[in-house]
Amino acid sequence: MARVVVVGAGVGGLATAARLAVTGHEVTVFERAEVVGGKLGRYTRDTPLGAFHFDTGPSLLTLPEVFADLFEATGAKLDEYLDLVPLDPIVRHVFPGGGPVLDSCADPVAFADRIGTAFGAEAAADWGRLWRRAGRVWDASWRDILRTGIDSPRDLAKLAWRLGDLAAIGPGQTLRGLGRRSLRDPRLRMLLDRYATYTGADPRRAPAALVAVPYAELAFGGWYLRGGLGTLADALLSRCLDLGVVVQTGTTVTRIDAAGGRVHGVRLAGVAAPVPADMVVANVDALTVYRDLLPSPRRLAGLADRSLAGFVLLLGVAGDSGLAHHNVFFPGDYDAEFDAVFGAPGRGVPARPAPDPTVFVTVADDPTVRPAGHEAWFVLVNAARQGRALSAVDWRRPGLADAYADRILDVLAERGVDVRDRLVFREVRTPADLADGAAAPGGAIYGTAGGLLRPANRTPAHGVFLVGGSTHPGGGLPMVTLSAQIVADRIGPAW
Ligand SMILES: Cc1cc2nc3c(=O)[nH]c(=O)nc-3n(C[C@H](O)[C@H](O)[C@H](O)COP(=O)(O)OP(=O)(O)OC[C@H]3O[C@@H](n4cnc5c(N)ncnc54)[C@H](O)[C@@H]3O)c2cc1C
Repeated sequence: MARVVVVGAGVGGLATAARLAVTGHEVTVFERAEVVGGKLGRYTRDTPLGAFHFDTGPSLLTLPEVFADLFEATGAKLDEYLDLVPLDPIVRHVFPGGGPVLDSCADPVAFADRIGTAFGAEAAADWGRLWRRAGRVWDASWRDILRTGIDSPRDLAKLAWRLGDLAAIGPGQTLRGLGRRSLRDPRLRMLLDRYATYTGADPRRAPAALVAVPYAELAFGGWYLRGGLGTLADALLSRCLDLGVVVQTGTTVTRIDAAGGRVHGVRLAGVAAPVPADMVVANVDALTVYRDLLPSPRRLAGLADRSLAGFVLLLGVAGDSGLAHHNVFFPGDYDAEFDAVFGAPGRGVPARPAPDPTVFVTVADDPTVRPAGHEAWFVLVNAARQGRALSAVDWRRPGLADAYADRILDVLAERGVDVRDRLVFREVRTPADLADGAAAPGGAIYGTAGGLLRPANRTPAHGVFLVGGSTHPGGGLPMVTLSAQIVADRIGPAW
């Protein structure tokens, strides 16, 4: 049996803790916030009408099998803890200039039919060809990358990919390039481009291999959890506690002791005595680990490419909007949005709030999250990271957040959804808020915006591991949960 300290009670930290506890380890989780969940955050607003409950982070659950595996591995059943609701449409896509909307769904034949009806037979045939390629990329990624530790470019190069896999993955190609070559309809290209943002990246730079992302969403479905996605954090906490994990919130780890290249324990803020440990699993952004907790200039230097952040509105809205659960309102000029969000620091062009961004609106048809006759809206817009560099925006600048919130509501009105006179209240969450609340550097949603190679789960110090969205295999709830499996497998059972 090893004494394991997990630093951070995000989804990755809790999932690792549960897996290690069930295999006989003595596990303690230290979480700096007063609540668990990290980016999987929640907010409740009590009003005279009743309470509005919001997810402030994830709104879409994909790859439910990954969570079913986790619960099963820890001796429980997923559906005893969570009420999974399949979504159809998964996302309603509303394109610029009016015209038909496109509802995505988990049945590839039905989705191809919907594309055909909305945009014509050529568009449906193009999508069908891309879909087959996406399936090959998904299969290769699932088989060789997503459930295995990939520690270096050498590990990646050693993979015995078949020629067909490599042709589908298209090393060196971008997602944008793949869309240009495969899809004639500009609306489908936009739809494909958006999946780059699921990893926090710009489609013009993101690898073509990200075509596996829409495949995962549309082949295995998109899901809501009744009561909100935040119920996943409750379920994971409950699993951990049942398995004897000690979870200590309001406790910040300031240092991982690894003198001589081997872990000895951690230091806590305001506590003189070190906490001994045989293993430490850091569910903290890799940037924070290699800068502050386990300083490693070489590892830090490789982490320059950060994911985009998000600007969020939480709206209490009177009446029934008739929107789908997830709705994407695309802009007239998608590239202008990416230019704004990422800037062009090399050419001295600063990032800025995009004046005409894509707007993602989630409205759960769930009476447990809003008073009768009202809706709880989660509105998300891609945003530059918090900071003062050219590639960032200082969202703390007085007046900026409110002015931008006004702008987003105006943009929605211009796109046919005007809720300005139906607002019961509005709350704003900027990248600076996510940086403070979940200790996410710059408020980056996905840590490192990336390709196939993210920071490894192994660190240079023996007995210290990284888990979570900034590390392999990537961000998003299922990937983070897979990273927990990879780390738990590496540590192995106590017996
Ligand atoms: C707005 C938004 C929308 C998103 N939408 C989706 C979606 O629809 N679907 C999806 O799958 N994913 C989505 N994501 C991504 C998803 O939320 C994350 O990938 C995932 O929750 C990250 O989990 P993690 O394990 O990396 O931990 P994190 O959530 O990053 O948690 C890390 C924890 O470590 C704690 N911590 C940090 N430093 C210390 C320290 N020194 N000592 C102790 N504790 C510390 C933090 O307080 C935090 O609780 C979204 C994220 C955001 C922000």
